[in-house]
Amino acid sequence: MMIPTLHADFDLQRYHTLACPSVAEYAVTVTERSHLSTALAWAKQRALPVQVIGEGSNLVPRDVVPGLTVINRLSGVRVLKQTADQVELRVAGGVSWHWLVLFCSAQHWYGLENLALIPGTVGAAPVQNIGAYGVELCDVFVSLDAVNIRSGEQHSFSAEDCQFGYRQSVFKGVEEGAWIITAVTLRLSRRFAPNLTYGPLADLNPASSAELIEHVIAVRQSKLPDPALIPNAGSFFTNPIIPIAQARSLQQTYAAMPVYPTADGEFAKVAAGWLIEQAGLRGDYAADTGIGPYEKQALVLVNPQRVASSKVMARAQEIAQIVEDKFGISIVPEPRLFP
Ligand code: FAD
Ligand code: NAP
Repeated sequence: MMIPTLHADFDLQRYHTLACPSVAEYAVTVTERSHLSTALAWAKQRALPVQVIGEGSNLVPRDVVPGLTVINRLSGVRVLKQTADQVELRVAGGVSWHWLVLFCSAQHWYGLENLALIPGTVGAAPVQNIGAYGVELCDVFVSLDAVNIRSGEQHSFSAEDCQFGYRQSVFKGVEEGAWIITAVTLRLSRRFAPNLTYGPLADLNPASSAELIEHVIAVRQSKLPDPALIPNAGSFFTNPIIPIAQARSLQQTYAAMPVYPTADGEFAKVAAGWLIEQAGLRGDYAADTGIGPYEKQALVLVNPQRVASSKVMARAQEIAQIVEDKFGISIVPEPRLFP
C-alpha cells in the first residue's frame, strides 16, 4: 500500500511551537480524507500506535514519538445551510483556525472575532474547546466528524457527545487519543452582535467585525510572545477552578486576587498567571535552560533555547510546586504531552 508522503525518522521540531527536539518514528502529511484511511490501514497492519498533530501549538512532544504521526492538513470550507440570520459551515480539520476567523469575517459571518489569532487547526479546536475573551468554540459548535484511530470507523459527535467544559472536552478526557477530527460544523450569525464582556474589549464600540478582530490581534500581540520568535505553547497552565469559600478566604490575605465565580456560585476560577506572578516567577528564566514564565504574561512558559520537553516539564513542575506551596492551589499543564 503506497502512502506518498510517509517519512521515517521525521524531525518534529519545526512542527510544534515549543520547538523541543523531537523525532517521529513515522510521519505522514494528510491533505485528503482518503490519505487518512490509507495511513491508518498501513499503521494497523504493522500494529503501530497513531497520533495526530495539527499546528503543534498545544502540545509538548517527547524526544521520540513512536508509531505514525499524522500531520493534519485536510482542507476546505463548505456552506451547508444559510438563512437570513444564520449560516452553517462544515470546515475541514486541517484548516488554520485564524484563517477561518478572517475568512468568516470577510463573508460577514459573525461570532468568531474574539477567537482571532489563536494558533492551530480547526480539528484541534474542539479538543480543548478553545476560548478567549469570553467566547468559546462551543458557543458556535454544531457537530464534528471524526475517524476512530483503531477501527477506521467514521463517527459524528454532537455538542453533547463532546462534553465541552472549560478548556476541556471528551477528546482530552476518556476519548483522548482515540479519534482524529476530520471536520467541524459551526453555526455563525449573519448579524454582528459582539461580545465585549472582557476588560480589554469593554471600551470598544466596533463598527465591524474586522475592527474587533484588529483590536483582539493588537491586544494579543502586545503581551503574547510570537512562537516563531520565542518558542512557547500559549498558556502553560489551565486556570484552576476552586471552591468559592477557598477563593474568598485567600482574598482575605490577597485582596487584589482576581476571582471569577462560576454560574452556580459554588466555585470560582482563579487566574493562574496572577498566582505565578505573585509567587515572584514572572520573567524568572532558569539560568541553565532559559525556560520560565514570560515577562509580559506569566502564564506563558517560554523555551528560548529550544531544549528538550523533559526540561520544560521539569520547570513547569517546579513552578506549579512554588504556587501550591504559596497558595495551596494546584495548577496543571494545559498542553498535552505528545503522545
Ligand atoms: P496541536 O497542538 O497540534 O494538538 C493539540 C492536541 O490535540 C494534541 O493532543 C493532538 O493530538 C490533538 N489533536 C490535534 N488535532 C487533532 C484532530 N484533528 N483530532 C483529534 N485530536 C487532535 N488556546 C485557547 O484555547 N485560547 C487561546 O487564546 C490560545 N492562545 C494561544 C496562543 C499561543 C501563542 C499559543 C502558542 C497557543 C494558544 N492556545 C490557545 C493553544 C492552542 O492554540 C489551541 O489549543 C489550538 O486549538 C491547538 O491547535 P493545534 O492544531 O496546534 O493542536
Ligand atoms: P487576561 O485578559 O490578562 O486575563 C487573565 C485571566 O483572567 C484570563 O485567563 C481570563 O480567563 C480571566 N478573566 C479576565 N477577565 C475575565 C472576565 N471578565 N470573566 C472571566 N474571566 C476573566 O488574559 P490574557 O492572558 O491576556 O488572555 C486573554 C484571553 O486569551 C483569555 O481569554 C485567555 O484564555 C486567552 N488566551 C489563551 C491562551 C491559551 O493558550 N489557552 C493563550 C493566550 C490567551 P480565561 O482564560 O478563562 O478567559
